[in-house]
Amino acid sequence: MTTYLNHFIGGTLVEGESTRTSPVYDPAKGTVSKEVRLASVGDVDTAVSAAAAAFPAWRDASLAKRQSVIFTFRELLNARKSELAEILTSEHGKVLSDAAGEIARGLEVVDFATGMPHLLKGEYSENVSTGVDVYSVKQPLGVVGIISPFNFPAMVPLWFFPIAIAAGNTVVLKPSEKDPSAANWLAELFLEAGLPAGVFNVVHGDKEAVDALLEHPVVQSISFVGSTPIAKYIYETAAHHGKRVQALGGAKNHMLVLPDADLDLAADAAVNAGFGSAGERCMAISVLLAVDSVADELVSRIAQRMSTLKTGDGRRSCDMGPLISKPHRDKVASYLDVAEADGATVVVDGRAIEVDGDADGFWFGPTLLDHVPLSSTVYTDEIFGPVLSVVRVSSYAEGLEIINNSQYGNGTAIFTNDGGAARRFQREVTVGMVGINVPIPVPVAYHSFGGWKNSLFGDSKAYGPQGVQFFTQEKAITSRWLDPSHGGLNLGFPEHD
Ligand code: NAD
Repeated sequence: MTTYLNHFIGGTLVEGESTRTSPVYDPAKGTVSKEVRLASVGDVDTAVSAAAAAFPAWRDASLAKRQSVIFTFRELLNARKSELAEILTSEHGKVLSDAAGEIARGLEVVDFATGMPHLLKGEYSENVSTGVDVYSVKQPLGVVGIISPFNFPAMVPLWFFPIAIAAGNTVVLKPSEKDPSAANWLAELFLEAGLPAGVFNVVHGDKEAVDALLEHPVVQSISFVGSTPIAKYIYETAAHHGKRVQALGGAKNHMLVLPDADLDLAADAAVNAGFGSAGERCMAISVLLAVDSVADELVSRIAQRMSTLKTGDGRRSCDMGPLISKPHRDKVASYLDVAEADGATVVVDGRAIEVDGDADGFWFGPTLLDHVPLSSTVYTDEIFGPVLSVVRVSSYAEGLEIINNSQYGNGTAIFTNDGGAARRFQREVTVGMVGINVPIPVPVAYHSFGGWKNSLFGDSKAYGPQGVQFFTQEKAITSRWLDPSHGGLNLGFPEHD
């Protein structure tokens, strides 16, 4: 019998009016585990209406009340995170330890959101004019929309909804239809923590649901994470409909290894950042820029480490799981033919691997390519799989130029023991998140996450101070309590005395 995943609207599971559905796979088995409902425009409207109805009471709940609900949610999530990790592994495929890591990074944002009363403090200027005070307050926007990608089904929603909700907004989340169950689990847990029904709604769907959110007049803002072409479309369409937008896009992250680097540290980092989560991370390292004098040695140390990696079912203590779908697996594999045709060397071939998992899983093993030309689509495309391309460079300057010429600017890393070179890199590189001897420089929750160039459309990064700013609007109030000395008519523009 088919299992259906319903929408979660107004605190209950809802089938909705649409009859369209989409299969959800267990990627390690290659089998369909359930069908997720795909919302119609009317279903999205039902979710937005529930969020709009819940908004006034949630906005007016005291900071103490809101904080206590967020805190309870944090405690429940921490206590039950292994349940969520199992859901992530069963629909995304990432290994259980990696799923636990994703949740831990999401929990950091919930921790940050528990401090919202402090973050919402405004400013006050006394007696700006005689008897007049000016102060500013931060108020919620109203109903906010969040649209998330498949690769972090828990962490990416957690980048946004804890802050949005703690600040007094109500939410409609549209998760990826490829691994949608984590979103329902999180929304049900928040309800259990005492969140009023309707504050956090989940609507499942595809382009039809996304477009309905982008166009809905009640939705005040859109937070999107996904691929660059869709991010650009979301930014333009939501802005056209008068919404505040932050749209985080794709990436091609470079790691520059200078000759004085610790090569073992660099090789470990390249393998961890290249193949963790099967390369399906927006902060994965996909290009290694190796300075000529150390390139051969670095490639050999990386290949040696790769030979120890075990690919298989994420529930069986493997290092790397399957890819998200069969078409994606085949697309990733097709880049090996391109690499060979373009003159690159295949050092480690992920097509023929032994796996610890079912034969029908969407398997593709860790792959290392050397001498990849910059003109090849292997270099220019975001492959989003376990494929690490080595590009050889003659100097720091050549490496920097390659990174800065990329259309993407999400993350980058430099490996060196030269503090001056690292400092120069930090100043000169046109990328939003930079690691110095750190391969995946995802900022902690009290800084903000986001790239430059085609990796972020809009001017607000996710979470941290910029997240609070995104989910609040400032109001400036000028107040005067009656003083008889300020009576009288004056039609001129107000001046201070
Ligand atoms: P995607 O762009 O295909 O989908 C993202 C979301 O948009 C999903 O909810 C999907 O249903 C929706 N969507 C897809 N096509 C649409 C369309 N034509 N119109 C409207 N909505 C549409 O991305 P994905 O494959 O789910 O995720 C992987 C991508 O996300 C990669 O490019 C990765 O780099 C990127 N990503 C970026 C970051 C970041 O922080 N910059 C983080 C995670 C993932």
